[in-house]
Amino acid sequence: MIVAKNNEQIALMRRAGIVVAEMHERVREFARPGVTTLDLDAVARKVLADNGAESNFLGYHGFPAVICTSPNDMIVHGIPDATRLEEGDIISVDAGAIIQGWHADAARTFGIGEVTKEAQRLMDVTEESLNAGIAEIVEGNRLGDLGAAVQQVAEGAGYSVVREYVGHGIGTAMHEDPQIPNYGRRGKGMRMRLGHVYAVEPMVNAGSAGTKVLADGWSVVTADGRLSAHFEDTIAVTDDGPQVLTRV
Ligand code: MG
Repeated sequence: MIVAKNNEQIALMRRAGIVVAEMHERVREFARPGVTTLDLDAVARKVLADNGAESNFLGYHGFPAVICTSPNDMIVHGIPDATRLEEGDIISVDAGAIIQGWHADAARTFGIGEVTKEAQRLMDVTEESLNAGIAEIVEGNRLGDLGAAVQQVAEGAGYSVVREYVGHGIGTAMHEDPQIPNYGRRGKGMRMRLGHVYAVEPMVNAGSAGTKVLADGWSVVTADGRLSAHFEDTIAVTDDGPQVLTRV
């Protein structure tokens, strides 16, 4: 069941979204060669505490941190640890926050120092694919329109879209109905309605789409060992078009 949110509820999600945007900003400022992914988690925890926000990641099915940190060939769900960032790495950071019971969720991938042109292009295309999906978040459009738009940008650039992990509705829980694939066919799927709020999150692989989960039970990596990027925002369907809640 998909619950439409009213304007007050969306306003609370916007407040949570601004906290998530700040988590990303601070983490990115702090990230440099030699810093560990656990250090990044500490930065994100401080932003949550300073804003009186709760974490939706910490304790989620036992997840031990407030952000996911997924470097290089890791797609999503990496656990912050003693891994030190190195010049030329790319890292995907997924962050979330709760304000008065309302959730927001967003991910960004960025480079540590100088990255290869190939890595930069992958990140740029993934962000562009997210933006193409967001542009489809208009009342009456279908989820297939969104998925097709994301897929077209990613595959048009010669990359692959991950199939096993998808976006989701979001509200009083981080993961609500519907599931939002990053692929699809125009004119197919559920119609978007006013007050729906979606977390759209393309995961784009430089090589093939295949994934595998590491022995920690969380970390998802590319099956072929090539790079992957992940961009996500939380977006409300409004009568004014898509309202992105997780960007300042
Ligand atoms: Mg998400």
